[in-house]
Amino acid sequence: MTDTIDVAVIGASGRMGSTTCEAVEAADGLRLVGRYDEGDDLGDLGGAQVAIDFTVPSASPANVAYCVDRDVSVVVGTTGWDDAKLDTLKKQLAQHDSVGVLIAPNFAIGALLMMSFAQQAARFYESVEVVETHHSGKVDAPSGTAARTARLIAQARDEAGLGPVPDATQTDPDGARGADVDGIPVHALRLRGRVAHQEVDFGAEGEALTIRHDSFDRVSFMPGVIEGVRQVGQHPGLTVGLEHYLGL
Ligand code: NAD
Repeated sequence: MTDTIDVAVIGASGRMGSTTCEAVEAADGLRLVGRYDEGDDLGDLGGAQVAIDFTVPSASPANVAYCVDRDVSVVVGTTGWDDAKLDTLKKQLAQHDSVGVLIAPNFAIGALLMMSFAQQAARFYESVEVVETHHSGKVDAPSGTAARTARLIAQARDEAGLGPVPDATQTDPDGARGADVDGIPVHALRLRGRVAHQEVDFGAEGEALTIRHDSFDRVSFMPGVIEGVRQVGQHPGLTVGLEHYLGL
């Protein structure tokens, strides 16, 4: 293998795909050898060693399976990978032991740090709530990142023997206290002009800790995508979450 990694982008005409093509072209040691979008024949993927998938949930599993069949490692940003799809992929990867697949629900390194910091802080605070804000075109709520953050916090609280978050609310007919994710309140704001933002608010007697991350532009995902491309070939099998490549 040469020092340069040849890369193909699937979903190259989309918002994330086109930004990713620019980032790959600008990155040292990476060479963009193929751009594919809906209806294109993936062929030999331009001879790529690594493919990146930013498509749609209905297309991503078939694209990834196509790459794995050809022993091409894949970095996946597309959402919608449920347990059944992950299981099918794991079985396929067992037949291709040199191939790595990274499925990263969030490539923003700051967002991964926010989750990690929140997980560290969780055991020290009686109260905690998660507030995520996204653009008004987002179709699902709460965001996958917010739900995962809440689950990590709940797990850390559980391990520390903390009980439920204190909350005297007795009536809430309109759902003002937000969603309940493993006992952690999660609130979703949808505002035109925003991109992806999250705040984790901790409270204890006489103090507050706020951990906040903001993605203002989809270029914020690119350092994580490029890091994924650089490392995926060294991590055979399936990895879910870029944090595992970053030692977080
Ligand atoms: P988009 O709609 O702008 O782009 C999707 C592209 O995929 C389109 O160009 C479409 O033509 C193409 N496509 C559809 N079917 C295809 C197929 N069978 N083969 C090849 N291309 C196909 O969407 P987007 O905003 O770029 O987001 C893409 C995905 O990435 C979504 O699932 C989104 O939620 C996810 N996303 C992930 C992260 C992350 O950090 N992991 C960040 C942002 C977005």
